[in-house]
Amino acid sequence: MGILVRNLTKKYGDFQAVNGVTFEVPAGQLVALLGPSGSGKSSILRIIAGLELADTGSVELTGEDATHVPVQRRGVGFVFQHYALFRHMTIRENVAFGLELRRPKPNKDEIRARVDELLGLVQLMGHAERYPSQLSGGQRQRVALARALAPKPKVLLLDEPFGALDAKVRDELRAWLRRLHDEDHMTTLFVTHDQQEAFEVADQVIVLNHGKVEQMGPPQWLYERPATPFVTEFLGSVNVLNVETVLTMDQHGDEVPLSLDLPGSEGGRAVYVRPHDLEVQRHRDGRPCWPARIRRLTPLGGLARLVLTLHDGTDIQVQLTRQRCLELSLAQGDDVFVLPKDLKVFHQPGNFVENYMI
Ligand code: ADP
Ligand code: MG
Repeated sequence: MGILVRNLTKKYGDFQAVNGVTFEVPAGQLVALLGPSGSGKSSILRIIAGLELADTGSVELTGEDATHVPVQRRGVGFVFQHYALFRHMTIRENVAFGLELRRPKPNKDEIRARVDELLGLVQLMGHAERYPSQLSGGQRQRVALARALAPKPKVLLLDEPFGALDAKVRDELRAWLRRLHDEDHMTTLFVTHDQQEAFEVADQVIVLNHGKVEQMGPPQWLYERPATPFVTEFLGSVNVLNVETVLTMDQHGDEVPLSLDLPGSEGGRAVYVRPHDLEVQRHRDGRPCWPARIRRLTPLGGLARLVLTLHDGTDIQVQLTRQRCLELSLAQGDDVFVLPKDLKVFHQPGNFVENYMI
């Protein structure tokens, strides 16, 4: 058992920042808490750390109730986006800081050995005697992580730890964090608003929206089986089509109907299709397809992004490989047929999802 939170709520004044949140981070896993800014991620992390008190709910850490345990005795390691290191201390002293505070205090040799071990782990062995100002942003966050890990916490909490770094360094640190986790299997909760970051580092992702858990699961599963419109839209670009658009497409003259079982269009329901779940063809081949005109074609390296206009005027985004574009010698203004391969329809209320694989 790693981290278990049950029914957490937190209000700031009248504002419900956390609204009945329950989830588990299984021991040894790296789980991402993913949601837009303001969705309550940091509040939840701070409640787990003991830096903030929940209005209701409980927190268990490695099987023990920690709801009323003070922050110093929770055994959590914490890294923030801007976790400033102590500027007047060397890297070695920074990493040793948490160990010096331990009671019983480890002896000098033990501290030195543990700091060496950690600096090796975060690949900063040669930097022990430097000061934070002599390191890059990425190196400083690795020191912050080493400092959080030094006292051997039960769990590690990371709040957008790479958020302040530029894209390339962030990419490197993600890969590095994942490798580190594969070695030490520290139970870790990683907060981010970046879907790609969550997918790259995490075993499981918890999607948060307005202080509530929308869905939790392995990244690919969430992507393929989103439970709600919010999750669908948050996890990648998607076309949102009116049910009417899809239904009239079905009824149109000589087209092969999609035969979707869509009982009416009440409730303003929408049909979701990802750009890469659409195929483009020059001719009909007996499969359901919609006539469309290529309004824009943007080559993007190995891929191409197309904007197609359907016959009712709806624009849809399509993503094809460069190879496929060349095969069909597609150009702006061409008339083509577009085939939806995977459609998702959410039935309100309750957000029951239906997948139509074609
Ligand atoms: P996130 O980390 O997902 O961006 P936060 O947990 O920081 O979200 O904040 C959730 C909401 O609660 C935000 O709207 C934020 O403005 C509000 N909030 C957070 N902390 C406080 C506070 N101490 N006082 C008042 N409002 C707060
Ligand atoms: Mg935050």
